[in-house]
Amino acid sequence: MPSLLFPTGSVPREAGRGTFNCPACRGSNPYTRVVVGRVLRIFAIQFPAGVYGEYVECGACLSTYRPSALAFTSQEEREGITAEYERALRRLLALLVISDGDIHDAEIRMLQRVFSAVTGSQLTRAEVLAEVKDAAENPTSAARYLGEVVGLLNDRGKEQILRGAAMVVGSDGHVHDAEADLVRRLGAVMQLDDDRVAYVMRSFT
Ligand SMILES: [Zn+2]
Repeated sequence: MPSLLFPTGSVPREAGRGTFNCPACRGSNPYTRVVVGRVLRIFAIQFPAGVYGEYVECGACLSTYRPSALAFTSQEEREGITAEYERALRRLLALLVISDGDIHDAEIRMLQRVFSAVTGSQLTRAEVLAEVKDAAENPTSAARYLGEVVGLLNDRGKEQILRGAAMVVGSDGHVHDAEADLVRRLGAVMQLDDDRVAYVMRSFT
């Protein structure tokens, strides 16, 4: 069936609860395990159509992780885990700056600034360059990339990512119509509701 002809949506469903050691909080916190189901909407009826993904959400900081994070027991192992919205934001920023086929020092610094403003974490220049190199070797559009990772993100993570995208397009002081359209499209791909997208846009335009 040509499913692309029909609107699809995501339906998060709780699949478990417990406590875990959140890599971001570095403490024992409650978590919720969430399966993000995919539905096809045909007229007013929803049909289940597979799964976008599955994540574990920390009840304290709301960061999401792949379910494998539950298996990590030592602090050392947890140090290596990145919250999914940070991982996705890093890749999205890299895709946005390489979209003109070139990367300048000013863009690397801008990317570091945006990442730090959104996440509170720092990226070294080497980390930025590694991300950019990997993004260049696996070319895709920003929208397509976000469509692939949407099942690993909760609404808070999506909003953070959209903030990052809005900061990038606004980094030269003004947002052109095409850039505003891009941010809106990224919000739509992540299935953020229109109010949230408008809220993020208002803060940067
Ligand atoms: Zn946490």
